[in-house]
Formats: sequence, structure tokens, C-alpha cells
Amino acid sequence: MRQKLVVGNWKMNGSRAANATLLNGILEGLQDAKAAAAVCVPAPYLHQCQDLLTGTALAWGGQDVSCQQPGAYTGEVCASMLQDFGCRYVIIGHSERRAYHGEANDLVARKVQSALDAGLTPIVCVGETLAQREAGQTMDVVGAQLDAVLAQVGPDAVHKLVVAYEPVWAIGTGKTATPAMAQEVHAALREKLRVCNAEAAENVLVLYGGSMKPDNAADLMAQPDIDGGLIGGAALKAADFLAIIRAAQ
Ligand code: PGA
Repeated sequence: MRQKLVVGNWKMNGSRAANATLLNGILEGLQDAKAAAAVCVPAPYLHQCQDLLTGTALAWGGQDVSCQQPGAYTGEVCASMLQDFGCRYVIIGHSERRAYHGEANDLVARKVQSALDAGLTPIVCVGETLAQREAGQTMDVVGAQLDAVLAQVGPDAVHKLVVAYEPVWAIGTGKTATPAMAQEVHAALREKLRVCNAEAAENVLVLYGGSMKPDNAADLMAQPDIDGGLIGGAALKAADFLAIIRAAQ
């Protein structure tokens, strides 16, 4: 039985004052939660998370990481820095990074390797655009995205991955994949993980992301291969985020 995981992706939102209110609100409602929970915040707020969340049940992480070691890379944040601020997770290959920053599968794979080398758990995002879905390419696209990572990290690292299936057309749009549509992709992703490492694949968490909200979370997470959520908009309100965590049994 895989313990479910609900991760908030704050994207480029927050202020120290707003974060304190949100994080304290989440902490107040987190007792008795069956699912694990985390927030992935903009890098400047990692220190605030470390201050407020150390010793609590809420983990934290970054939203991107450099594939490089420390050095002359202006503007970048490397894995050892995330680790230095107590991060457990880092989101890698989010579709917004792929679309707005030109991140291709091989770069995503190298970022995942950097995260693993620093002892972080990468949340590897995959997902197809609407045009790709309509052209019947969903499995090819998400399969290639995951394969690039598996080829880089190898079978022995499969158990250290978290995968997030986020159909691009569902992110921030209010359109959600139906539970059956999402389950179909999740099952295919787990099959790929199995081919790489059959034993480890059973324990890998495959999260769904894309307009997951309190009213659809339970149905999505009831699917056999949906092990939690990566939550954007609904992670910015403590009550909504907590409702999703509670929907994860
Ligand atoms: P959303 O974002 O929940 O606002 O659709 C999810 C994500 O992009 O991770």
C-alpha cells in the first residue's frame, strides 16, 4: 500500500506575510492527515519554510534545480543549496519550465540526476498538450519524457523517484482529466517503471496534477495508480489544500 502524497506547487506566488498565514493554516489542519504533504515554494522562501516547518509533518521543496554543480551560472540554484535549506523534494520538468524555458527531456533528466546526487526526491513532471492528446500522441509523449529520465538514472534509482502526470491542457484551466483518463496514463507510466525495475515500480508514487480541487480530488485519488496530487491554484488556500490532503485516503 503506497502512502499518498499531496504536494503544493506555489509557482511564482507568495510573500513572507502571505506564506506565514498559509503555512500556519495548513499546519493547524494537518493533524490526523493520512497522506504525506509538502509545499514547493519559490527559492527565496525556502528559508522561511525551514524556519516554520522544521519538525512538523509538512515537508518542503523547490520548483526547479540546476543540472550543474556550484559555479559560474548566474541566476541558477543548485541541488546542494536546496538540500542546505532542508528541502526533501524538488519539482523537475514542469510543463511551464518546458514551455517557457525550453527545457527538453535530456536537460530534465540531468536535473533529476543532480537532485538524486544531493539526496533530494525529484518530482518528475510529464504531460501532453491538447494538440498532442487530440493527435493520439499522449502515451508517446509522456513515455518519451519518462524514458529520458529512466535512461539517465538507471534501474537502481527508480525507487527514489516521484512522477507527476500533468496534462498541460488541464493545468490552471479548470479542465481536469477524468479519473479514467488519468488512470490510463498513470497505469502506462507505472508499466514503464516496471520495465525498468519491477520491484521498485510498485512503490513509486505517481501523482496527478492539473486543476485538482477539493471536489474532484477524492475520485482521482481513488484510482489504483493515482497516488496523490500536485496542486497549483488550490494549494494557495489552506482550506482547499487541506481538503485535498483529507481526500487522499
Ligand atoms: P493547477 O496546477 O492545479 O493550478 O492546475 C498544477 C500544476 O501546474 O502543478
